[in-house]
Amino acid sequence: MSRALSNLSWWAYLLILLIGGSPLLWYFNIWDGVIPLSLKEYAVVVLVLTHITIAAVTIFLHRGQAHRSIEFEVPTSVFVRTIAWTLLKYDMPTWAPVAHFFRYWLWLTTGMITKEWTAIHRKHHATCETAADPHSPKTYGIFRVLFGGVFLYVKESRNKETIAKHGAGTPSDWIEKHIYTKYHKYGVILMLFIDLVLFGPIVGVFGVWLVQMVWIPFFAAGVINGVGHYWGYRNFPSMNKKENFEDWSRNICPIGILIGGEALHNNHHFYPKSAKLSVKWFEFDIGWMYIRILETFGLVRVKYVYDKNLNI
Ligand SMILES: [Zn+2]
Ligand SMILES: [Zn+2]
Repeated sequence: MSRALSNLSWWAYLLILLIGGSPLLWYFNIWDGVIPLSLKEYAVVVLVLTHITIAAVTIFLHRGQAHRSIEFEVPTSVFVRTIAWTLLKYDMPTWAPVAHFFRYWLWLTTGMITKEWTAIHRKHHATCETAADPHSPKTYGIFRVLFGGVFLYVKESRNKETIAKHGAGTPSDWIEKHIYTKYHKYGVILMLFIDLVLFGPIVGVFGVWLVQMVWIPFFAAGVINGVGHYWGYRNFPSMNKKENFEDWSRNICPIGILIGGEALHNNHHFYPKSAKLSVKWFEFDIGWMYIRILETFGLVRVKYVYDKNLNI
């Protein structure tokens, strides 16, 4: 790669792809992309793609990294590793496949850095509803968090003290340092290229990619952080234990599907270490259902689950 090209910033690549890629597709007669979509198929594709991102946020970032309520595992690792070492003298890396898939997918679809997300979220729990809380509607107002939550996130991500104090224990392997963190904005450009080729410039870029790009900023940084601390019902008097006052956390809806179970935010604040966010018979947490499925295949190990006898 020439020096001029390697010096271009991520948004310049984005522009080149958009302006240069579309005529190429026209020229090669794949204007509708490799997979032309009907309206129904389009709706399914967008819902599935964004749901995978939501699952990655709630299972990997939130329950896995920020709260350590689950651990990602390598299935049959001991057996396979022993065979590999005995026969081939090969020391297999302990790569948990689900964690790697989620990290790759989050790089492609959000550009967020695991350490930053984890640190900001842990700080939110530690300072809930105080002036130090990175995105409390009590401080910033519900509409600023709901529609501008992503800007509050970006502002806090630049606070080096937050990242150093709350970001311990997140991945620091080769791929994290050299790809996911170093080039964290380039994954979404690769995603743009994939959507462009698969679904064409109109549907792929404006119908799929743009929706993917605003989904997490709106539903995670806006709805969970804003509405989840403003509107809804409460099962628990969830406390900011350090400051000794009730936080504003709410359960937005008892059926947690669209945002992966995160709608049960009051339950979560009451018992943040629990991998399961539903506590009542009428509540459903789809993230917990996915965790249980992954657990049966040995891909995830659950460490903590809410127990009504433990008032933690
Ligand atoms: Zn919260
Ligand atoms: Zn949390």
